[in-house]
Amino acid sequence: MTKKVDVRGARDMPPMAKSLGRMSWNLTGSWRNVTPVIDYEKCTLCMLCWKFCPDLAITCTEPPRIILDFCKGCGVCAEECPVKCIEMKEGL
Ligand code: SF4
Ligand code: SF4
Repeated sequence: MTKKVDVRGARDMPPMAKSLGRMSWNLTGSWRNVTPVIDYEKCTLCMLCWKFCPDLAITCTEPPRIILDFCKGCGVCAEECPVKCIEMKEGL
């Protein structure tokens, strides 16, 4: 069961370029050639992946889920995950 995470406001967001909403007319998932896969055994629910995903392709839920229609495979989430539990896999 997923649980909604409280959003405390814009001050919690990282200083980076970011979409303000998912672009339903532009399914950036079609750009992807590698796919992030979260190891939920190691995930600490810190939500940094959600904060840093530039396309809002990660849900703000516990645990976070990746919405593949919008994930372009950039790897920012895997880079920012402090416990390195997101692996970018080919062929998904
Ligand atoms: S790879 Fe990660 S950061 Fe990049 S779009 Fe997909 S979910 Fe977002
Ligand atoms: S950044 Fe890593 S540890 Fe934090 S919620 Fe995302 S997957 Fe889990």
